[in-house]
Amino acid sequence: MVGQTVRIGRIFGIEVGIHASWLLIFGLVTWSLAVGYFPSALPGLDRTAAFVLGVVAATLLFVSVLVHELAHSLVARARGLDARSITLFLFGGVSNLGGESKQPATEFLVAVVGPLTSLVIAALAFGASVAFGPDSQPGVVAAYLATINLLLGLFNLLPGFPLDGGRVLRALVWNATGSLRRATEVAVRVGQLVSYGFLAWGFWRVLDGELLNGIWIAAIGWFLHGAASASLQQVVIDQRLRGVRVRDVVRPDPTFVLPGESVARLVDEIMLPGYRRAVPVVDGRVVGIVTLSDVRAVPPERRASTTVAEIMGGRSGVRTIGLEASLLEALEDLGAGDFEQLPVVDGGRVVGLLTRGDIVRAIQIREELGLGG
Ligand SMILES: [Zn+2]
Repeated sequence: MVGQTVRIGRIFGIEVGIHASWLLIFGLVTWSLAVGYFPSALPGLDRTAAFVLGVVAATLLFVSVLVHELAHSLVARARGLDARSITLFLFGGVSNLGGESKQPATEFLVAVVGPLTSLVIAALAFGASVAFGPDSQPGVVAAYLATINLLLGLFNLLPGFPLDGGRVLRALVWNATGSLRRATEVAVRVGQLVSYGFLAWGFWRVLDGELLNGIWIAAIGWFLHGAASASLQQVVIDQRLRGVRVRDVVRPDPTFVLPGESVARLVDEIMLPGYRRAVPVVDGRVVGIVTLSDVRAVPPERRASTTVAEIMGGRSGVRTIGLEASLLEALEDLGAGDFEQLPVVDGGRVVGLLTRGDIVRAIQIREELGLGG
């Protein structure tokens, strides 16, 4: 997804990007408004004016979706979560919030504010359309915005994960049962039901002769089903790894290198003999991590005169994980920093390196043995 996203700027310190699919939607919305909605709502409108109104309305739709996502992000931030970025894509937007809510109340507020914002925009736009007059150009644009934001608000309130309404449902079940896992399962199952509903409705429209509408509705169902299933997979991983500690998975290897050591000795005495792709750099405590790709960046003839400290990663602060930490926590740390491995420490001593591969293998083995749900 990242590769197809264009960054367009920052609002309140939150990065805003547009997914490539949005350009397609923008074109489709503009075109359908310019040839369908505006000419029929404003008889006698010439083609250029209809096209301009189409672009204006599509842009305002874009702004509406952005405001909806900003509402999520700003409430998340006010509740102590880390709101990083917003990506606008096919059917709306995604707010990337660092980590999950720790309390049902936070999840509830962050989720519910989005659809409420859309409904408020709908009400304002409806007021504007009345004020401008339903036969004026701005009045017709405002009426379109009112309708689309009403639909956006109601659609997102459907109680299936990953829609906002699904998160609201999850927060409520979580609050009632005290179990986030149980709550996620319920919200995901309802999300799958909602997606089947859209698929069935879409096919029914197609059979009824409304080909384009039907395909649209079925596509929404298809998308929702994929997103709900992905959420369920996340729950399954969480379940498989529940109770598993770093010490259960990491292979003991107390090897480390001093920052003043030469890269040549690192290669000859540590990396080659032990088939090690990464080595923690220790100077009393872990001060960095040096990997094969760091080494590759140094030409062979300069490796004897270059120190590990000059090439190691993590100089701005290296993240380590304790032997007793949960594997889920480690997975979150690896994901947050986009690292390939974490030095594992026990009482300030390096006892090994935990890699993404270790975690993937742990999930696979536990899956094959039928462990952990
Ligand atoms: Zn939302």
